[in-house]
Amino acid sequence: MKITFLGTGTSQGIPIIGSSHPVCLSENSKDKRLRVSVLVEWDNYTYVIDCGPDFRYQMLRAGCKKIDGIIFTHEHSDHVMGFDDIRPFYFRQGDIPIYAHKRVLKSLRKRFDYVFETENKYPGAPTVVTNRIKNKPFQLNNMEVIPINVKHAELQVFGFRFNDFAYLTDVKSVKDKEIEKIKNVKVLVVNALRIEPHRSHFNLEEALQFISKVNPEKAYLTHISHLLGFHAEVEKTLPKNVFLAFDGLQINL
Ligand SMILES: [Zn+2]
Repeated sequence: MKITFLGTGTSQGIPIIGSSHPVCLSENSKDKRLRVSVLVEWDNYTYVIDCGPDFRYQMLRAGCKKIDGIIFTHEHSDHVMGFDDIRPFYFRQGDIPIYAHKRVLKSLRKRFDYVFETENKYPGAPTVVTNRIKNKPFQLNNMEVIPINVKHAELQVFGFRFNDFAYLTDVKSVKDKEIEKIKNVKVLVVNALRIEPHRSHFNLEEALQFISKVNPEKAYLTHISHLLGFHAEVEKTLPKNVFLAFDGLQINL
């Protein structure tokens, strides 16, 4: 299985438009973060988790020519606003499978109503096949995917486990029985927004506490704000099995 980090930034991305914060002005490419998303590939299958506003550029940058489906964590704009840019995949491949919680599917239907139109549909609009995710394992081709139910303040969000890889973003709290589903995975990805606490995201300290409960071989932090600091400096402060993810990072497992 191969994981590619397409984006590792929080909702505004880094740099923030117009910001003169030192991290936004950094020339280190690891300090430039598109909105959060990963590509998960195994055998000949390619799935993307979330498709935020940077989706088009992320697909170009990763050289991604085919997707077998999109899996959504939740409906916030930084995770869905690239949905229209599935069009090139739709034109080449036909209807694109999407996987999401019932509430997320409802939100997509409302915000991208033309995609779901059945009568007099605009010919350039893409068509999708919807698959509802409940909090129980589901199949993507030959892979069993285990949803992890987490909370983003009050909002329900899904994380996902693929074999020995678990991906959780936009987490603020996780019940113990959900943590059990990912105990001792090889690679855990989880969000760490900044140093200061935040109402709906783990800060660095909460993310590190969560990582020690899960006890993975390696953990990577994502959904990062400029307020976390410079990549090179923050990484020096982390435990030896914890790393900051960066855009373009690939992991094979
Ligand atoms: Zn987000």
